[in-house]
Amino acid sequence: MKKIALFIALCLVAANVAVAQDLLAGNYKKALIIGAHPDDPESMAYGTALRLRDMGCEVVTVYLTRGEAGIPGKTHEEAAAIRTRECEKVTEMTGIRHIFLNQIDGSSEITNERYLEMKQLIEAEKPDLVITHWPIDSHRDHRHAGLLTYDAWRRTGRHFDLFYAEVMTGLQTTNFNPTHYVDITSTRQAKLDAYLVHDSQGLTGNVAKFHDTMEGMRGLEWQCKWAEAFIKAIWPKVD
Ligand SMILES: [Zn+2]
Repeated sequence: MKKIALFIALCLVAANVAVAQDLLAGNYKKALIIGAHPDDPESMAYGTALRLRDMGCEVVTVYLTRGEAGIPGKTHEEAAAIRTRECEKVTEMTGIRHIFLNQIDGSSEITNERYLEMKQLIEAEKPDLVITHWPIDSHRDHRHAGLLTYDAWRRTGRHFDLFYAEVMTGLQTTNFNPTHYVDITSTRQAKLDAYLVHDSQGLTGNVAKFHDTMEGMRGLEWQCKWAEAFIKAIWPKVD
C-alpha cells in the first residue's frame, strides 16, 4: 500500500514538473522584483534577477520597507539607516537599481493610498515582468507586498507577467506549487553574496537551513543543481 501511495505521489510530482516552464523563456526586457524587506528580493529571486540582468533585461528591486524593525536594540531610524546602506551595497555590487516605498517594517498597510502608490510605481517603471511575494505567507508584510502588487496587476490591465516567489518555504511561504523555474546554478554564488550583504540580519545560518534545501529541491524538480521556483498569476478570459 505504501509503495502505491509513493508511486502516485511521484506521478503527481512528475505531472506537475512536466507542465512547468522556464520563466526566462518569456524574453523579458524590464523586471521589477518587489519584496517587503531589504533581503527579500535577494532571498526569493536574485539568482533569477542576475540571470535576467546577464541576458540584457533591466532589473529593479523594490523594497516595501527599510526593515526598520529588523535589528534588536536599534531604533527604527538606526535600523533603517543600516539596512538602507546594505541595499546600496547590493546595488553597487550588482548594478541592479533599487527603490524604497517607505512603508514601515512590521506595520505595513493596505489602504487605497497604498494601492494607488503601487499602481503608480508600476506605471512609471513599465515592467513586462514583476516578481513578488506569494500572498500565503506567515509574514504580514510579505502578504501585503503580494496583495498590493496583485491589485496593481489587475488595475493596470495585466499588461505584465506577474509571478510569485517563495521565501523560506515551510516556515514562511506555504502551499507553494511552482508553475515556472529558473536554473540559477550559474548565478547562485553571486545571489548568496548579495543576500549576505544584509549582514545586520545574521543570514549565514539561513543558507544551509533554508536556501540549500529549497533551491536544491527545486533543482531536483527542474533537473539542475540549483533552481528558483515561481507561480505565474493567471486570470480567466471572462473578467
Ligand atoms: Zn521579509
